[in-house]
Amino acid sequence: MNDLQQNLRHFLEKKSLYSWVKLDLPEYTHQFCSLTQIEMECPKCKKSRPFSDRRPRGSGAGQSIPKLESDIYSFRFTCDSCTSGKYVFFVEVDTEEKRVRKIGQNPAWSINLDKDLEKFLEGDSDFLKKALICESQGYGIAAFSYYRRILENSIGKTLQGLRSMLELNNAPLEEIEKIDKALKGIVMDERIKIAKDAVPNHLRPNKMNPLAIIYDTLSAGIHRLSEEQCLENSQHIRVALSYLIRALTQQNEEQKAFLDSMKSLNDFNSESA
Ligand SMILES: [Zn+2]
Repeated sequence: MNDLQQNLRHFLEKKSLYSWVKLDLPEYTHQFCSLTQIEMECPKCKKSRPFSDRRPRGSGAGQSIPKLESDIYSFRFTCDSCTSGKYVFFVEVDTEEKRVRKIGQNPAWSINLDKDLEKFLEGDSDFLKKALICESQGYGIAAFSYYRRILENSIGKTLQGLRSMLELNNAPLEEIEKIDKALKGIVMDERIKIAKDAVPNHLRPNKMNPLAIIYDTLSAGIHRLSEEQCLENSQHIRVALSYLIRALTQQNEEQKAFLDSMKSLNDFNSESA
């Protein structure tokens, strides 16, 4: 698979509708339409499957290959496993600006939620669904508003998770007390500031604070960034948010299991003493 096919594949698999993506467009449609395989969630198999373009390829004998022009092109793929699951994409090509965007997709761009995220967010998982629907329609700024609401609503649980983490790592008492104060506080900016500061080093890849970056990007998005810039960053917000939530949740569950086991062992020892 060459660079063009790889980029095109990524574009078809991951991008929502209506957002323009820069692409190094080839001169002829033949190269542009030569992508033969992608991987998508099959609506019939209910699993991620390879999909192939099974349309017969003309030999092209006696025909010259047409130049790529600004127009709408279609892509069709069939599931390799069940051969009945299908995906169709309509892609608008802008040769002048060297960019493409999806203007149609069937089945629609997926809004399936990450299970860990759904569990953590509880009732707020509806906001996450709405954020994804906004993304699928190209409304980046609206999606950002939903992400910010999700972050603000879950700041209490995030603080709880951070508190458990600090406790487990024997953090100084004043750090834990700061979080307790934030948990009782009502000023959102203060709660978020304390939560940002409490993110432990092992959750800061290359010294980047995920909570600070997510929150600052969301604020910038709502107040300053363009629709396109928000759309571009939506996916990163989602990935970073999922990572942070998963880390906090797993740590808490492991901690609970650890404490339960220690208590059982301790009880056993005192009984048999
Ligand atoms: Zn299938």
